[in-house]
Amino acid sequence: MTLSFDPDSLSLPSGHFIGESLITADGVIPMHRPSDGKAYALCPRADADMVDRAVETAKTALKRSNWGGVRPRERLNVMHRWADLIETEAVTLARLEALSSTRPVGHLIEGDIAISTEQIRFFAEFADKEGSDLVPTDDGNLGMIMTEPYGVVGAITPWNFPISMAAWKLGPALAAGNAVVLKPSEMTPFSAVYLAELAVRAGMPAGLINVVLGDGPLTGNAITGHPDIAKVSFTGSSRAGSAIMENVARTGIKPMTLELGGKSPQLVFADADLDKAAAAITTSIISNAGQACVAGSRLIVEESVAAPLVDAILRHMNTVRPMPTWDAAAQYSPIISDQQRQRINSIICASVAAGAECLTGGLPMDAPGYFYAPTLIAGVDERSAAVTQEIFGPVLTLQTFRDEEEALSLAAHPTYGLAAGLFTRDLSRAIRITRKLQAGTIWVNRYGRSRDHILPTGGYKQSGIGKDLGREAFHANRKSKSVLIRL
Ligand code: NAD
Repeated sequence: MTLSFDPDSLSLPSGHFIGESLITADGVIPMHRPSDGKAYALCPRADADMVDRAVETAKTALKRSNWGGVRPRERLNVMHRWADLIETEAVTLARLEALSSTRPVGHLIEGDIAISTEQIRFFAEFADKEGSDLVPTDDGNLGMIMTEPYGVVGAITPWNFPISMAAWKLGPALAAGNAVVLKPSEMTPFSAVYLAELAVRAGMPAGLINVVLGDGPLTGNAITGHPDIAKVSFTGSSRAGSAIMENVARTGIKPMTLELGGKSPQLVFADADLDKAAAAITTSIISNAGQACVAGSRLIVEESVAAPLVDAILRHMNTVRPMPTWDAAAQYSPIISDQQRQRINSIICASVAAGAECLTGGLPMDAPGYFYAPTLIAGVDERSAAVTQEIFGPVLTLQTFRDEEEALSLAAHPTYGLAAGLFTRDLSRAIRITRKLQAGTIWVNRYGRSRDHILPTGGYKQSGIGKDLGREAFHANRKSKSVLIRL
């Protein structure tokens, strides 16, 4: 079977998934396909009553199924069956996702969905292996740190990797014994609804995963401010993260994990393998057309090797071809919306007006949909909008340095600290610089995540609070109580 599909032929699960069924709802938020710009659906918008219904359903499901209290291996088994069914249904899931998002259908099968199922299994394994601790005390006492699930977790996810982001939230929360009310982005809501449906079909107690559709101001606010949402797990922009903190502070204090924006530097020293560095740097900024939180969007290169590195990057950039996400051969992604494409273009135009130069790109591509050409922009400094703002597009800025000190000073960003890349053959320098870079993830002689899910991800500065992935994500979904027993 070919993966390519006719975008007009899909039937969309347009509604909220609460308990064990789809609650169809009239759509209100217009949706356009990024690959051709066609209006194709209206996304429903859950109000506070609908969110309340989802939370009540989750509470009842926790009570009835005793999900947090069953033999932990049972939680693990159910989650494994869910992951198996996601794999079986990968093509349907990939098509739903490719239609509304920027993810090419082939990448979804080999990348997003394959990795997400692996991550669900990875988190399931924690269920019967990580738990409470006995701690050292004197002979007259027994000390314990006892952990338990929070209850209902409220999860809110962005549009850039919708299935992966849902898996990052659902996997650890469920393995840790919680139920979830999930709100995907209003631009890419359908794959999350289908994931919830598959969980029920795989035998997960109905009501443990509830998906409500809607936007941030109405639906998102109702989730983060709900008194029975015990913990908030958010991935999205720093702007929305800040609004969520405000809402949580106003409506009742609760723990939060916030995975936010980035503007990550890639440092290249003269002794690096320039061909390998050029390939990794280009992939990191053209993958998903730069719409990745960890996109390495600031190239900072030692002056003496800037020219050959730039030549190699331009060669890679100039090979991309726009193709709709529903074509199995598609590699390069469109921008999510016309509005976002205009925003990218306006930042570039402002930078060029201020004296910057586009070495390639700097304009929309001549194709249907919202494609934007891979762009390398020189003549910028640390005050340029292209350097300070998270553009969230295929735009790489170029700055040069003469020594390590200058490299570090250019790498430091006033707001963000999500990730950083470093290319050098000098091991001592790699470690020295890694210690000084202010970012939650550092990649040396590579750029981008591997399938080592044990490595947590999260930001310094305004790139976030807490971690996704790794042990940290599991533990962030359990609260602990200290117990001391006099013997
Ligand atoms: P966004 O902040 O606009 O939206 C993210 C989600 O939050 C959506 O579901 C949206 O409806 C919801 N939302 C918006 N305002 C809200 C509010 N006040 N209350 C509750 N919910 C609200 O982000 P986006 O445009 O969907 O995604 C791109 C952003 O996400 C980028 O900044 C990117 O760096 C970030 N991101 C971060 C990570 C990470 O791991 N750090 C991963 C992916 C994306």
